[in-house]
Amino acid sequence: MTIKLFEKDVYKIRSECRIQKVIREKDRTFLVLDKTIFFPEGGGQPSDKGTIGDSQVIHVSERDGVIYHHVDKVPVGESHICELDWDRRFDHMQQHCGEHILSGVIMEHYGYLNKGFHLGESYVSIDIDGNLTDDEQLLNIETLANKAIYENRPVIIDTVDSVEKAMQYHVRKMPNLQENLRIVYIADVDSVACCGTHPARTGEVGILKILKVQRYKKMTRLFFKCGLRALQELQKEHQIITELSVRYSADLSTLIDKISQEKEKYHDLKNNHIKIQSTLASLEADNLIKNIKDNKLALSFQDKSIEAIGLIIKGIQERENVLILASSLPDKKIILANNGKLDIDCGQIIRDSINRFNGKGGGSKVRAQATFEDLKELELSVQHIKSVLFVE
Ligand SMILES: [Zn+2]
Repeated sequence: MTIKLFEKDVYKIRSECRIQKVIREKDRTFLVLDKTIFFPEGGGQPSDKGTIGDSQVIHVSERDGVIYHHVDKVPVGESHICELDWDRRFDHMQQHCGEHILSGVIMEHYGYLNKGFHLGESYVSIDIDGNLTDDEQLLNIETLANKAIYENRPVIIDTVDSVEKAMQYHVRKMPNLQENLRIVYIADVDSVACCGTHPARTGEVGILKILKVQRYKKMTRLFFKCGLRALQELQKEHQIITELSVRYSADLSTLIDKISQEKEKYHDLKNNHIKIQSTLASLEADNLIKNIKDNKLALSFQDKSIEAIGLIIKGIQERENVLILASSLPDKKIILANNGKLDIDCGQIIRDSINRFNGKGGGSKVRAQATFEDLKELELSVQHIKSVLFVE
């Protein structure tokens, strides 16, 4: 059995240790120490990291009371100084204690149980066995959790030897073990059996912010951050809001209205633009109709987008039965469209062209489109289609 120094004192960041065993498994090395400050992965909390002498601790795990330190190399000698990566550990303590507070508040005020906990580098979440998606409820939960933090309540750890004694703490979940139960108790907030590391008082959690909510298998997944993680998240969000306020010349109270107004203006302008483009396309179609020969027309545009060309094609085809091959040089795209008397499968011809000249695209019998990497390939494709369809 390894003596767990982190259970007696979570703030111990340095300690002497003796190596009792070195285990090599394939290309990995594990050390068993007489005592350790490194918390092994467990109860949703990731393992600690740090150093043992001059070796790096990569991961820590526990099996049958023995703690295994996965290290990059074996330090020379038997006795060493262990040092904890404290920033990492304290971050875990803040998120973990925040999880207790959040779960306790939800159980107390809404009667739902925390059924799952994830503490990772990118996100922290709990799964609640009920529907908790109402904004007002979530704001209330967040406020109550933060009040419990400001009250700076002691986080009491008590190891009891039976489930009956654990139940005296009114634990929110039945413990899995029958004996040696480690109860984490925050008066009037939460009580549960837990093996993780927690700060001495709730004030050290700093702040708790719920960031996102998802319905998940009839449960609610709440994403949140505590302490420094929450502060950094809010700093990032504040920076974005400040930038948006400058761009839209608005303050916090008017920003959303201003964005909505700008969006409406954009839609009006877009609709007007489409109307003007359609009128221009119709005029251009009138002009191009005279070039139709044997119900076929080939067009190449140096300065028009494929959308603008689509409108011109529509204008022509509304008036004439015609097969049109049109290319947009700026977009490196071609369209083949057929509503004429010719029995031609545009999709098949475009697919054949894509295969020959390294393009992408597809389409139906009456209309198909292709995109090319460069203009040379587009040109070769156009010539090829012309040679197949436009021969005299
Ligand atoms: Zn815990």
